[in-house]
Amino acid sequence: MKVYLDNAATTPLDNRVLGVMTKTMETVYGNPSSIHAMGRLARTTIEDARKRIANQLKASQGEIFFTSSATESNNTAIQGAIRDLGVQRVISSPTEHPCVLNTINRIKEVKSVQIEMLTVDRHGRIDIEELKSLLKDNTISTLVSVMHANNEIGTIQDIKSIGDACADFGALFHCDTVQTIGKYEIDLSTSNISFLSGSGHKIYGPKGAGFLYVNGNNIIRPLIVGGGQERNMRSGTENTYGIAGLAEALDNISENRAVYSAKINILVDRFKANIGALDLDIQYNGCPENYLPHIVNLHVPRTEKTEMIMMNLDIYGICASAGSAC
Ligand code: PLP
Repeated sequence: MKVYLDNAATTPLDNRVLGVMTKTMETVYGNPSSIHAMGRLARTTIEDARKRIANQLKASQGEIFFTSSATESNNTAIQGAIRDLGVQRVISSPTEHPCVLNTINRIKEVKSVQIEMLTVDRHGRIDIEELKSLLKDNTISTLVSVMHANNEIGTIQDIKSIGDACADFGALFHCDTVQTIGKYEIDLSTSNISFLSGSGHKIYGPKGAGFLYVNGNNIIRPLIVGGGQERNMRSGTENTYGIAGLAEALDNISENRAVYSAKINILVDRFKANIGALDLDIQYNGCPENYLPHIVNLHVPRTEKTEMIMMNLDIYGICASAGSAC
């Protein structure tokens, strides 16, 4: 029997999502840019998905852009803010996903943009006072890029306070919400978030389908140019069934948030009780108060017994990770 414990890396497809995607794949094959009936059907499918995602996030439809992944969304936001919004300084944290860290590193190589990395405490939390003290110098136009929750240790950052600090000092705020989207309520009508990214495959939706929210006050140019799809923000023929699956996945997880969270809590309690009964001197990593319940990151001291733990788990049919898959 396989035991799959790697849902922070990616999730299986939910049946409800699979149903929608299969039907879309079979019946909605037109090019959404074609003006005939099949094209219009594909366009309607995409616009319906956009509307549903915007409704879940309390954003306006025009602020949601479909992409191939959160990686692409994060690249688009950070590079666009620097290129088109005059950002001269990026403040981020060392615990961001590689798609944010490597985007920042690449920028450092080619542009004279100042990069500041916030310190994080031993639980992976940023210090909001340190952020505010950096933001006080508001003569430099700044983008803050801090994720909502970490994909390895599950620590949740206080994005309300980060957004408020950014608004107070006139900075832009980019937030990677890949690990929290749908699982937590995010209200973009009241949060000071300039850019937000999400991905289908962490919420029982499809891989290769992501989105970027760009607050209407921020006009950036596309990362990928071509036929001008996505109102010129992301060229390339749209992944219609992926987009339909992404919207279904977000609706599904948002509507069933309470059930999902109760189930996760039971599983995690059982997991911790059983593993705690082993003679392994386990320590849990991540923030004890503010953490994602679906991520358990633990440390076992290196002994002969634990040396090959990841390989042995695999041999026993248990899929787990010792860090981010990428
Ligand atoms: N950001 C976080 C926090 C993630 O966990 C991931 C997933 O690996 C990504 C970004 C990248 O998402 P995608 O696989 O859609 O590019």
